[in-house]
Amino acid sequence: MADAKLDNVRKTFNDGQVVAVDDIDLHIEEGEFLVLVGPSGCGKSTTLRCIAGLEVPDSGTITFGGHDVTELPPKDRAISMVFQNYALYPSMTVYENMAFGLKMRGADKEKIDEQVRWAAGIMEISDLLDRYPNQLSGGQQQRVALGRAIVRDPALFLLDEPLSNLDAKLRAVMRTEIQELQQELDVASVFVTHDQEEAMSMGDRIAVMNAGRIEQIAPPEEIYHDPNSLFVADFIGSPSINFFEMTFDGSSVTGDEFGVDLPEAVAEELRDGLSGEDVVVGIRPGNINVTDAGTGLVDIEVEVVEPMGDTKILYFDLDGQRVNAVVASTDRVQEGDTVGLEVEWPNVHFFRPDGPKVIK
Ligand code: ATP
Repeated sequence: MADAKLDNVRKTFNDGQVVAVDDIDLHIEEGEFLVLVGPSGCGKSTTLRCIAGLEVPDSGTITFGGHDVTELPPKDRAISMVFQNYALYPSMTVYENMAFGLKMRGADKEKIDEQVRWAAGIMEISDLLDRYPNQLSGGQQQRVALGRAIVRDPALFLLDEPLSNLDAKLRAVMRTEIQELQQELDVASVFVTHDQEEAMSMGDRIAVMNAGRIEQIAPPEEIYHDPNSLFVADFIGSPSINFFEMTFDGSSVTGDEFGVDLPEAVAEELRDGLSGEDVVVGIRPGNINVTDAGTGLVDIEVEVVEPMGDTKILYFDLDGQRVNAVVASTDRVQEGDTVGLEVEWPNVHFFRPDGPKVIK
């Protein structure tokens, strides 16, 4: 068991022109499942590759269990990695695929056999050991890839978008399997994805990355309910949060579409936290309540209703701005209805126009 720590890690490419990882600090605790999430190009894979030893940082240090591994090659770090393209060797059986890494490291036959059978047992693929990869389903192949990764009993488990080649249903199954596997092994793990729903459903903690930096690192509920920046609020949550650019006059906020007197406690915090008048108000679709026309902040026509199973998403056009709200599927509201919109103010987020959250 070990933790992993990144201190001030920086990695650039093209003679410093591309800053892939911008002086980040990250502590992956013992036994923790940490998810790195963010848009394409934000530096997730490069961060993971630095942890793995596949890239050497320009500056900063990486330690595992207190030992400096910054310059160590991957083979000398007790890590295992699973990639998006988990390519198994087609001419080898499942057993041989799983044994390969240990064999290369010169482990003796008995030890290899013991470890392969242990990993196969955990991944429930013991009955597939004699098959070749082309005789397996996609899910079975992915389980073999995971089995091959855990066969070394790693101190740190690194996964880079390992599920992105699978269909939606199998992905959901494998998410659970990976979480169960991680809990069983109790090994610190870093899982990279660009899919915020995957991140929310899997991570003990989530690190949201943006342009080479970590914007926020916290448990999923905190990331969702208490995003510390516009970027995090926007990136996390589906359907996405509604933003309104408004001005604050000390007691109320006013925008092009609507204005409202704020509860005094909220207004007081805004007075303390805002330097100018401009504020971006972020309201999650679940915090907009649909009422009878004439009883809310604004009256508005429902443009589109999108059934989602237990809920439905309502889309509105508020003077050219798309607004969405979520209601229970039993709600009888229909396209073309005129309804009122009310806001749950305690759950509303206020941001400075340059990004940071105003009310902590
Ligand atoms: P994705 O989700 O698309 O895989 P990512 O968040 O994993 O993206 P990285 O692959 O870490 O992002 O890339 C971060 C930045 O570094 C990008 O601008 C990318 O183009 C650049 N980059 C990554 N590897 C190299 C390389 N070997 N040479 C030059 N630039 C690179």
